[in-house]
Amino acid sequence: MSLRADDPARSLWSRTAAKLPTAPPLVGEARADVAIVGAGILGLSTALALAEAGIRVTVLEAETVGQGASGRNGGLVVPSLPRIGPAEVRDKLGGDKAARFLALVAGGGDALFALIRRHGIECDAVQSGWLNPAHAASLAPRVQARIAAWQAAGARCEWLDAPASRARLGSDAYHGALFDPSGGHLVPLAYTRGLARAAVSAGAVLHENTPVVGAEPNETGWTLRTPGGHVTAATIVQCTNATSPSGSSAFAKTLAAESVPLHVYQLATKPLPEPIRAAVLPGNEAFSDTRNNLLACRWTAGDRLVTGGMAAFHPGAMARLPGKLAARLEAIFPALGPVAFDYIWRGRAALTGDFLPRLISPAPGWLAVTACNGRGLVLNTVLGPVLADFLRTGDKSALPLPVTPPRPIRFRALAQWLPQLLLPLGDLQDRRAR
Ligand SMILES: Cc1cc2nc3c(=O)[nH]c(=O)nc-3n(C[C@H](O)[C@H](O)[C@H](O)COP(=O)(O)OP(=O)(O)OC[C@H]3O[C@@H](n4cnc5c(N)ncnc54)[C@H](O)[C@@H]3O)c2cc1C
Repeated sequence: MSLRADDPARSLWSRTAAKLPTAPPLVGEARADVAIVGAGILGLSTALALAEAGIRVTVLEAETVGQGASGRNGGLVVPSLPRIGPAEVRDKLGGDKAARFLALVAGGGDALFALIRRHGIECDAVQSGWLNPAHAASLAPRVQARIAAWQAAGARCEWLDAPASRARLGSDAYHGALFDPSGGHLVPLAYTRGLARAAVSAGAVLHENTPVVGAEPNETGWTLRTPGGHVTAATIVQCTNATSPSGSSAFAKTLAAESVPLHVYQLATKPLPEPIRAAVLPGNEAFSDTRNNLLACRWTAGDRLVTGGMAAFHPGAMARLPGKLAARLEAIFPALGPVAFDYIWRGRAALTGDFLPRLISPAPGWLAVTACNGRGLVLNTVLGPVLADFLRTGDKSALPLPVTPPRPIRFRALAQWLPQLLLPLGDLQDRRAR
């Protein structure tokens, strides 16, 4: 099979996730209390919570449900934050908001799996835990400190010493690990479609193939313009993350300006035989290590390993990526033998400068939110009900994050290339760590 990364239909998930009946595009005029733009995990979990509270909510999706990062990600359920820990969160948010935010993240794995059970979402969800092993001996104390900090914030994580982590990983390459039993993995496109189904069952109205091309205030709230019609709503919630097919509109740019896009590839191996499955991550946990250029993988129900990575910023880097990722897996898990991939696909994550979500209010009645940072499965799921409560009550003090005016990333045109440009440096640091 030849591997092409640009066609989302070639993702493993699009081949295996149960289909959703297509929602019709918007034609003519519609009214709602709240109109949500973007049918990813964030837009849909917010819509679900609003519909369950009896609010008239309409979701407008430019393409199809899960077309953005939500349907393309690795499916690792990680009840933690990327790069930053509780101390940085307290520094940024202050005591009260930080405590609420950390509790939301720490309890997020359990909340996500409970939601899946409550709505009977079929997405091969497995709450088998998340392993985050130290790739160098010098990093083990740092991981232990991180565990202590997260435990104090309410997380269920614990330290596995080197022999215990070796047994769980099926690899000699690590020096102990963080293990959080509330993590796990799922099929993200199936999960996102399941959220859409649950939101519609609860009363939300969904329109696919309906890009919002503009937003204008009116006497009672907002009008969202789409090619086939418009929606008026008292409040609009923009959940467009890093993806926007109508990227040149001022509406799309408002949220995009808060983050830089991160292009991440996902690859799925050929199905692997039982003895390999029993030797590598035999407990079926989600796995991502402490590298800057992190190595992550998880099993699928069909006995494939899904891994991922970024291509550096030089010619041919994309073509070499499958070989590079295969070599990494082979080195860490020798039981795999030679690794070959059947699928490769690409998604766009959104990175904020401080790895914290953004709740911005560009104008009264317009809330724009991004909580991706490459680890948004848990956070976007648990933020939905929190946003819904805020939209119902207007009580900012109960939010775990501040609502701010837009704060576009400075020199974004240059900054957007930084993650790729810095990748070789991260690789070098990873190789030098002892
Ligand atoms: C390759 C990859 C791997 C990842 N792996 C993991 C992982 O293993 N674990 C984890 O926790 N996180 C992971 N993430 C991050 C996670 O996928 C995201 O944080 C999360 O899906 C973001 O959800 P969202 O709803 O905010 O955005 P999205 O899912 O990107 O949804 C935004 C939606 O808005 C729509 N839209 C945009 N503009 C408009 C418009 N003008 N009108 C109407 N609709 C519009 C888009 O079509 C899209 O459907 C990964 C991300 C990527 C890209």
